[in-house]
Amino acid sequence: MNSHQARRAIVIGSGFGGLAAAIRLQAGGIETTVVERRDAPGGRAYVYRDSGFTFDGGPTVITDPTALEEVFEAAGAKLSDYVTMLPVSPFYRLMWEDGSVFDYANDQCQIDRQIQAMNPADVAGYRRFLDYSRAVFAEGYQKLGAVPFLHFRDMVRAGPQLARLQAWRSVYAKVASFIEDERLRQAFSFHSLLVGGNPFATSSIYALIHALEREWGVWFPKGGTGALIDGMVRLFTDIGGRLELNADVAEITMADGRATGVRLADGHTLPADIVVSNADVVHTYGGLLGGTDRGRRAGRKLAARRHSMSLFVIYFGLDKLHDQLAHHTVLFGPRYRALIQEIFKGPEVADDFSLYLHSPCITDPSLAPPGMGSYYVLSPVPHLGNADIDWQVAGPAYRDRILDYLEARHMPGLRQQLVTCRMFTPDDFRDTLNAHLGSAFSLEPILTQSAFFRVHNRDSEIQNLYFVGAGTHPGAGVPGVVASAKATAGLVLEDAAR
Ligand SMILES: Cc1cc2nc3c(=O)[nH]c(=O)nc-3n(C[C@H](O)[C@H](O)[C@H](O)COP(=O)(O)OP(=O)(O)OC[C@H]3O[C@@H](n4cnc5c(N)ncnc54)[C@H](O)[C@@H]3O)c2cc1C
Repeated sequence: MNSHQARRAIVIGSGFGGLAAAIRLQAGGIETTVVERRDAPGGRAYVYRDSGFTFDGGPTVITDPTALEEVFEAAGAKLSDYVTMLPVSPFYRLMWEDGSVFDYANDQCQIDRQIQAMNPADVAGYRRFLDYSRAVFAEGYQKLGAVPFLHFRDMVRAGPQLARLQAWRSVYAKVASFIEDERLRQAFSFHSLLVGGNPFATSSIYALIHALEREWGVWFPKGGTGALIDGMVRLFTDIGGRLELNADVAEITMADGRATGVRLADGHTLPADIVVSNADVVHTYGGLLGGTDRGRRAGRKLAARRHSMSLFVIYFGLDKLHDQLAHHTVLFGPRYRALIQEIFKGPEVADDFSLYLHSPCITDPSLAPPGMGSYYVLSPVPHLGNADIDWQVAGPAYRDRILDYLEARHMPGLRQQLVTCRMFTPDDFRDTLNAHLGSAFSLEPILTQSAFFRVHNRDSEIQNLYFVGAGTHPGAGVPGVVASAKATAGLVLEDAAR
């Protein structure tokens, strides 16, 4: 028996990051238990089921399937034995209020043709942008994505590459240096919003998302993102891991400066040699370690940092499949820069909006009863620290405005066809997911909160406490948190082997 097998780990939270870390630890010989406060796994990828409709709660654009395959391979399994991944095309349909449409697909001719129609000069500009995006992807994602930035020297080492790639510039500024047309600038800069980053403030490193999508495509698991979560849970339990649901951690227990396990809200304690938190980083330090000096200090410091915006999400089932829609549609509103500044700074919800509309039955009709359609629409909104809104009161009116907008412009007859409808508001991010200020993506991904400056994968003082998920390096988004799981599990296994 090697030293790993003598160890027990607890992972707090069953988001993509928590599950990926748990699989890697269990596969590495560490007896691992995942404790999740909700009644089903997935975290932001929780699944709602109403009246025969299936709604993925969060992530729907699945990129970099190779990172997921690696998680399965770490446990001696194959992703395809657990989940069928379906290609999505176009990746997204982008629509503007002036009637312009851009189908962003992985087909150079199709991309060139559409850019040519919008602004001929941008065909060459796009090529230069793609080269830039590919260079950032190679440096920022392939080399540094799953590296734990524990020491400042790690940052210094990455410095020259970051400088060469002009990482201090914003995504939008960088895109605008290649592309003239405002709609195309939006089309190639909005991606950072998918991981909680303001395109006007987030480092141009995030332009790599474009190359990542071009490299590996956009995918959707058959049965929805929830089927991918189920596959990961099945793999985890197949190799001997344990998942405890409705297990709300109230405290990380400590003795002699080390974590000794967790105490649940119902009083149960679970001992462990290693604790990995996939929960919100402010909640973990300020709440779960709030009884310790380390927790209070780190919690206060993190709470004062910049946090990503929140989201207002409406899940709705219609007795009609709107097959004129694409699977993923981004509906740009009348304002881009000004709206985004209001979303990130508050203090109110703007009158206009830009929306993301999910229509998964275009790819997989099984997510709704025959002939019907399951949908969600999300609107980025300020977090509760910037806009202290009572969403219980404001939510229904905001929902109605969004549904009216969709009905008038994109989904005729929507109100008549409505079978079921539910909302998830910033209050729910705060109360259900313990997300600080109801942020949908944790710490805002700006340069001064990235890599070494993000929460480290291992705490610097409590040596057997680790972190995984959106608040750690490299950040939010499924590929990000799965990469953070690789970095974190690598550290745990290395430490355990000592
Ligand atoms: C609406 C929406 C759409 C998105 N779309 C995309 C997309 O298309 N593509 C993409 O790549 N990314 C997308 N994202 C981002 C992505 O979903 C997240 O960044 C990622 O899933 C976060 O994973 P995580 O590992 O950080 O854990 P989380 O999903 O945040 O899970 C953390 C878990 O910890 C649990 N927890 C918290 N406190 C406790 C406690 N005290 N005790 C026990 N358990 C606790 C929570 O209940 C939760 O289950 C989207 C996010 C949202 C919200």
